[in-house]
Amino acid sequence: MLELQGIAVSPGVAIGQALVFDREGYQISRSRAATVDANQEWLRLKSAIDSAAAKLEASAQITADKLGARLGGIFSAQLQMLLDRRLHDELEQLIQKQSYSAEFAVSEVLNGYAAAFRRAGSSFLAERAADIRDIERLLLEGLTGVPTQTLREITNPAIIASHDLTPGETAVLDPRKILGLCTETGGPGGHTAIVARGLEIPAVVGIGPFLHLLRADDSIIVDGHLGRVIINPDDDTRERYLARREHRQSIARELTELRDLPACTSDGIRVELMANIEFPTEGQSCLDRGADGVGLYRTEFLYLGSEADPSEEDHFQAYVQVVRDMGGKPVVMRTLDLGADKMGMTPYAHQENNPFLGLRSIRLSLRNPALFRTQIRAMLRAASEGDIRIMFPMITTLDELRTARFLLRSVAEDLREEGHVVRNDIPIGMMVEVPAAVVMLDRFIAEVDFVSIGTNDLTQYALAVDRGNEAVADLYQACDPAVLRLIQKTWEIATQHQVSTSVCGEMSNHPALALLLVGMGIRVLSVAPSAIPVLKKAIRSVTIGQCQAMAWRAMRLDTAKEVDAFLQNQLAGLVPEMVLQA
Ligand code: PEP
Ligand code: MG
Repeated sequence: MLELQGIAVSPGVAIGQALVFDREGYQISRSRAATVDANQEWLRLKSAIDSAAAKLEASAQITADKLGARLGGIFSAQLQMLLDRRLHDELEQLIQKQSYSAEFAVSEVLNGYAAAFRRAGSSFLAERAADIRDIERLLLEGLTGVPTQTLREITNPAIIASHDLTPGETAVLDPRKILGLCTETGGPGGHTAIVARGLEIPAVVGIGPFLHLLRADDSIIVDGHLGRVIINPDDDTRERYLARREHRQSIARELTELRDLPACTSDGIRVELMANIEFPTEGQSCLDRGADGVGLYRTEFLYLGSEADPSEEDHFQAYVQVVRDMGGKPVVMRTLDLGADKMGMTPYAHQENNPFLGLRSIRLSLRNPALFRTQIRAMLRAASEGDIRIMFPMITTLDELRTARFLLRSVAEDLREEGHVVRNDIPIGMMVEVPAAVVMLDRFIAEVDFVSIGTNDLTQYALAVDRGNEAVADLYQACDPAVLRLIQKTWEIATQHQVSTSVCGEMSNHPALALLLVGMGIRVLSVAPSAIPVLKKAIRSVTIGQCQAMAWRAMRLDTAKEVDAFLQNQLAGLVPEMVLQA
């Protein structure tokens, strides 16, 4: 048995068999010295190289005959790479000296080459990365004797172990087959974590190197509450976790009784609990959890799950589905927030040195007006079906807000000219997730109908901490006093101007932080649907005075650590049943 500590990002306990996937999303088997005879392993790999070479030679010949020498040359180039002596030396070293399995060695070396090519920043070399991927696939298939399974094709329920997973890869996972996720890299605020939470797959990220410790078919536990991963648990541990899982499931069943009750403090202050969603199919699960509406629909996931550019009709169908499923409840649609860690296979994918500070979100939409207009057309058309509100992400300057609103108006006019009925009372809001927007909020506020505080990015930009980087995860704290002051300032300015303020960042998923926000004056929280029942329970268990006292004291503390300890302590006193047993 081996216990590893990572960062808990999606609650729940998963118990099952591990399936190890490499960076390109291929399943590979991994094993260490104890189970591998290095000489045998190298012979196995040599024979896989020979058979891959034979396949490439045949493909080169057939393609050259059918389509000409230039296209046949693609396979000849791959063959040259495959037969490179230095590649063989590197593979042999890993097998002989590090006791890697042949599959692991192939994956490590070829992934390293492909990444180096991709980083080089030239489109010619980026295409060579795809060639390397093909070679990797051929070798893995030769070694395992079966076509390589990809993340999309998993047939039996399993726990995915991987170096990293992009939000796009996570988005295509089937939660009925994927019991849990654990990754070597990744931070608490990355979108992979957010999608795992949306899909309700228990997940732990940022564990550090551990894949080399896993063997095919190892059993594994992922504890998404405490951030633990246990490889080959002993019988006692397994029993303990089974009991814990059952206990948590029974609490979840009890909480379903609250579904149709409002999230009111015990002295009657109403808090709206909205849902954050990524997929158009999530409407029902929001209603099942008792959501008051959708407070944030991350529409960019329409791009991340698919290889083709969605059409206006694709957007329209997705939006109409959400609006209809929500049965008249409000739906806040955020315009595309593509870029940074959410590029996937979109046609807008590009390489940047600092992607979170680069061409992302509203910046990318405004640089690609055709993309933006297509989406807005669909939103305005869908708005005739229900209570749609439109929100722009990552607004940093007034120019951006004005240009976005101008485009919105011009799209509305186009639609009217084409004979569509377009509502002129659609509330338009902005996300407050860049410190500059807080500083300038008194100017922005006259030009919006609502604001929503995105604490995931606000934390990242205020504290200069990459939200997806495990190396600085300890600094990524939404309860840092600096972030709390920015939230307070936003609420004060918006409230002075009678503009509604919600918080839609992940911090609201945590009961202690949610009570703090309520104490600070926030009356709308938007959270993962699965968090709604627990938050409702917490809010219904306290008075507004208790929340305000909590906020008053928390705002006077000096560090994130102090705030966190104080809030946990308060929660344990106010709502003891919320405290998790280790
Ligand atoms: C945020 O930044 O807090 C937010 C809600 O948006 P996203 O997590 O999609 O960046
Ligand atoms: Mg954001």
